[in-house]
Amino acid sequence: MPVIIIIADGVRPDTLSAALARTNDRPPVAPAIARSAEEGAFFTVTSCFPTVTGPAYAPFLMGRYPGAIGLPGLRWFDRSRATCSFPTFARSYVGHQMRRVDRDLDPTAPTLFELASRSVGALSVISRGLAPSARVTTSTARVARTHFSGNVRGWLDIDRDVVEEVVRRVRDERPDFVFAALTGIDKSSHAQGHDAPIVGDAIGIVDELVARLRIDAEEGGYWDDTHIWITSDHGHSPVRAHDDLARGIADFGLRVMSHPWILTLAPQAAVMVSGNAMAHVYLELEQRRRPFWNALRPRWESLASALLDRPSVDLLLLPNESHGCEVRSRDRGTAVVTFDGARFGYRRITGDPLALGADLRRADAQAAYDATIDTDYPDSVVQIATIARAPRAGDLILSAARDWDFRARYEPIPHVSSHGALHREHMLVPLVVNRPPARVPRRTVDVMPSALAALGIDAPAGLDGISFLERARRTRAA
Ligand SMILES: [Zn+2]
Repeated sequence: MPVIIIIADGVRPDTLSAALARTNDRPPVAPAIARSAEEGAFFTVTSCFPTVTGPAYAPFLMGRYPGAIGLPGLRWFDRSRATCSFPTFARSYVGHQMRRVDRDLDPTAPTLFELASRSVGALSVISRGLAPSARVTTSTARVARTHFSGNVRGWLDIDRDVVEEVVRRVRDERPDFVFAALTGIDKSSHAQGHDAPIVGDAIGIVDELVARLRIDAEEGGYWDDTHIWITSDHGHSPVRAHDDLARGIADFGLRVMSHPWILTLAPQAAVMVSGNAMAHVYLELEQRRRPFWNALRPRWESLASALLDRPSVDLLLLPNESHGCEVRSRDRGTAVVTFDGARFGYRRITGDPLALGADLRRADAQAAYDATIDTDYPDSVVQIATIARAPRAGDLILSAARDWDFRARYEPIPHVSSHGALHREHMLVPLVVNRPPARVPRRTVDVMPSALAALGIDAPAGLDGISFLERARRTRAA
């Protein structure tokens, strides 16, 4: 059973379903995806926190949340000094350090490329296990030119070339597993908003890929065996103001390191933004082990309160080693998210920042999902518990308020839309499958075990997801 996963990077469920509904346009916007959804199903599932490309590809390819396997964000600071190098010990996957992703990931957590025998991967940020000959890429020079020119149409041209190459490879090589990412929707959403006409053009390119793969599969006689899944790693929402978080923390009298001017003499704080609607803030950088909030609180409570006072900050997460992660909201008070290795909890202290309306006690991953899915923060309890325990996470973790993000400078394309945060518009993504599955998918981490099931490969231990191709067994996903 060949499995083809297509990442329509950055497409929102409502943006995609609106495009599918435009059947009377001549030509229709996305007839091939619409047909897949009709013959199979269209689901809305949750991504992971941070909702940002790179880390949010880990669920599809590894069946795990990114923080736990080494990718707490698009940028992070290596407090241990074990992975990143002198003098900054900082990582950013924007630019030349992007190829470090594969080595930064936990080597004991296998990728689909390592488990499937014959793969093709196109524009995949995570590519460990993918032979150089099996990679569809564009030249770094072309990506840099497109990035710095601010030419959004250039990204769509890159998508068109990727479509050509993927179609050719699938026809000629008949791989078991294909992972193809198209970034035009994300780039055009950043530049013009998720509902701009150009986003429809980018969706049309994804549709062309689906259409041509189907035609070839029908002609080649292997369509009845083929799984095509179209999904995304994060949503998008409008940004009306950019908060210069790094400068805000510097105004507190601290020497701050932050991209792109990362080289700072004797830095006292590191501000690592993803998406740009989330950030890790690291303090007391000389400590090689995570100090955790209870130890930092006496010296940094005033900074924490000052950050929460900023209109750009929606949720402030303060991880503790053994007492769970404190979750603060300016208007809705404080609560604690706990995880004991198997069960999740949510305890309201001075309020209900995640707006669950109730405490949560000893909930498994499914119950924690059900308790949060209709709130403003779908799957928040599991996602907060995971990022709080991520070895490389910051001491303070910020999720941005609607209309805001955390980077005021240095973006070549002015952002009118952003992602990275924990709220619905960023966390919810579509999942279109071309045949009805045995069970309703919940999360993007369910995609990888489902692909393994289709390919007849045993799932490795430690996955966060559950296959949607198999009826519910007595599996307990953590
Ligand atoms: Zn983006």
